[in-house]
Amino acid sequence: MTDFSLKSWVESAHNSDFPIQNLPFGIFSTSKKSARAGVAIGNKIVDLLELALNNFIEVEVELLNQDSLNALMELGRPAATKLRNQIQDLLSEDNDQLKDSTHRGSVMVNMSEATMYMPVKVGDYTDFYSSEDHARNVGTMFRDPENALLPNWKHLPVGYHGRASSIVVSPASIHRPKGQTKADDATAPSFGPTRLFDFELEMAFITCKKTKLGESIPVNEAENAIWGMVIFNDLSARDIQKWEYVPLGPFLAKNFGSVISPWVVTMDALEPFRTKGYKQDPKVLPYLKHKKDANFDIHLEVALQPENGQAENICTSNYKYMYWNMNQQLAHQTVNGCNLNVGDIYASGTISGPNENSYGSMLELSWKGTKPIKLSDGSERKFMQDGDTCIMRAHAEKEGVRIGFGESAVKILPAI
Ligand code: MN
Repeated sequence: MTDFSLKSWVESAHNSDFPIQNLPFGIFSTSKKSARAGVAIGNKIVDLLELALNNFIEVEVELLNQDSLNALMELGRPAATKLRNQIQDLLSEDNDQLKDSTHRGSVMVNMSEATMYMPVKVGDYTDFYSSEDHARNVGTMFRDPENALLPNWKHLPVGYHGRASSIVVSPASIHRPKGQTKADDATAPSFGPTRLFDFELEMAFITCKKTKLGESIPVNEAENAIWGMVIFNDLSARDIQKWEYVPLGPFLAKNFGSVISPWVVTMDALEPFRTKGYKQDPKVLPYLKHKKDANFDIHLEVALQPENGQAENICTSNYKYMYWNMNQQLAHQTVNGCNLNVGDIYASGTISGPNENSYGSMLELSWKGTKPIKLSDGSERKFMQDGDTCIMRAHAEKEGVRIGFGESAVKILPAI
């Protein structure tokens, strides 16, 4: 149970993305500290390795002295909950154990002095396509408004296996990718930088369970395998995608870079934001039928910042707009016996809401380039330009407490 009135002795924690009710995990280093596990609070990072070395927490030191959270995650959800509770206790305002300790200086690190890393070593990565508004928009633009959803869409969470090697941590810069494209009126394809460089506003969950090949995770047990969530920007080259994707789906249009936020927000922190999903009609098959509400009310936004300009909000959406929830996605992923690993990433697919300003990609916001987005500096965007920075933010909020994800930011560099 989350206590929304709980306060920390870390002053910057209040009214920040990282109050004492959040405590997301990440991997950081400083000029004096090697890469290791930490927890964010306000504008500070709690050095978990230092905490364990000085016996403030009961975790094997070796699990924290790592450049990824995989080993810690492998302990599973109950161990993570226990550790998070211990840390929360140490940081609460009526506990002076750490606050007044001589170790406080070595444990509490200024975020501004830290470098963040990929929080996990990603073995496998799946991207779903689980927002109905997004699937409907894309189907309407590229096929037929009357039959925008393909016949399978409401029966299974459509997805594809993506490329794990090119998932990078924010802040990132990615060069405009090159590839094959073919204009509708051209007789042959041409090669060059993408002209339709897009973002996709997504969230992703990270698994903490290793399963055997042949094993399936029942939908009502999937939560035990889900450790936490990050923001996920699935950068996409729409012109490359259009030419390559039939018959096997996305390939080079999607695997040149995806950018995640560095802090993994635990499912414990998100628990109070559980909410009902859309009614699923037609009825889903029994293996996808779940008991608990499994959607989450997480506010999402995307800002675009032109080179030397101001960041400007261009999209406001919410994770609750997902038609298929995480538990259903994971049950479907494993129903055929496909095995899971710790640190796998499962992205939601672009999360669009019902309104024009809630569309989670430039493709939809500019409706295939037919309605350019007007920025306050007078310029227009159909897709992203070189020098633009795309910034995604996410937070859940209740009773004045904000469970923030920080941000996923990526700057678009010219093609090389
Ligand atoms: Mn995607």
